[in-house]
Amino acid sequence: MTVLCLGSGPAGLYFAISMKLRDAGHQVTVRERSRANDAFGRGVVLSDAAPRRMQQNDPASTDAIRSHFVCWDDIVVVHDGRRTVSGGRGFAGIGRKQMLVLLQDHARALGVDLRVETEFDGAETSCKICERHAGGHALMSHAAHLRGPTVWMKFPRVICESWYNGNVVLMGDAATRGYLSIGPGVRLAFDSAIALADYLLNEPPLEAAFERYQAERRTEVLRLQSASRNSLEWFEAAERYPDLPPEQFACSLLTRSQRISHENLRLRDPDWLRGARPRSRSRGRTTRCR
Ligand SMILES: Cc1cc2nc3c(=O)[nH]c(=O)nc-3n(C[C@H](O)[C@H](O)[C@H](O)COP(=O)(O)OP(=O)(O)OC[C@H]3O[C@@H](n4cnc5c(N)ncnc54)[C@H](O)[C@@H]3O)c2cc1C
Repeated sequence: MTVLCLGSGPAGLYFAISMKLRDAGHQVTVRERSRANDAFGRGVVLSDAAPRRMQQNDPASTDAIRSHFVCWDDIVVVHDGRRTVSGGRGFAGIGRKQMLVLLQDHARALGVDLRVETEFDGAETSCKICERHAGGHALMSHAAHLRGPTVWMKFPRVICESWYNGNVVLMGDAATRGYLSIGPGVRLAFDSAIALADYLLNEPPLEAAFERYQAERRTEVLRLQSASRNSLEWFEAAERYPDLPPEQFACSLLTRSQRISHENLRLRDPDWLRGARPRSRSRGRTTRCR
């Protein structure tokens, strides 16, 4: 199969790697508009569960990435001069540039043709998708502002009705965005890359593979977008919370996306939660941490 990945972000690189791992005979090219060492964002945080699927897919790149992980368990919330520490989670962090360089090296070693500083003029491809699904409106893109502080300014929510058209398929932030305040974008990109490579291998023809990929990935993405919306609304209404006692404030912050419940907090850190409960009761306030 001949594959062209547009962009050497986590999605494009990891998909290129995943295709080569399944069949070294695939002709895989990645075109990236930026230089090899350009990378936005300072670090990438993953939950410690994220590398499990990666490990099965590609032990070599996962081990390389893991060797640069900084891992921690605690979330520290400082509120009203008081420091609250809640443990039991499990995070892993790596510099974004470091991660991408490792993936680039690995992709090249597998025979991926990685061409940096090569902008792809997507007008024709975009138009095909736009005509069919967006009433001719242009696709949103953050491609034009990847350098400098403007990168940090807007985090739009993107939902696509269809993730494919003909032999073109969307992946990563191109297909869906909008979970910045809970931050699983890189893991979603990796998981999507693995899923599509698997479906292309196991469920030809192309359209059937794309359909299965879209059905599988859309469900998880929508779930996380919904959680992210809850989290975003918490931040947008942040003026409601500063008067809460520090433990309740931390509890409200940690459960803001509603993916982590009171029960989850109990399992993760029962001592911390026990400490929070009497205080919340004695103040007679209603919070989610009861
Ligand atoms: C400030 C910030 C912090 C974040 N922190 C985290 C975090 O801690 N954990 C986490 O999981 N996620 C985080 N994310 C989200 C995560 O970075 C994205 O979800 C992830 O990078 C998506 O990968 P991608 O490959 O789909 O897109 P991108 O990483 O955006 O890669 C797309 C690539 O395509 C290239 N490109 C675009 N147009 C063209 C063209 N026409 N021709 C050639 N190349 C092109 C771009 O230069 C870019 O390199 C963060 C995002 C931001 C903005």
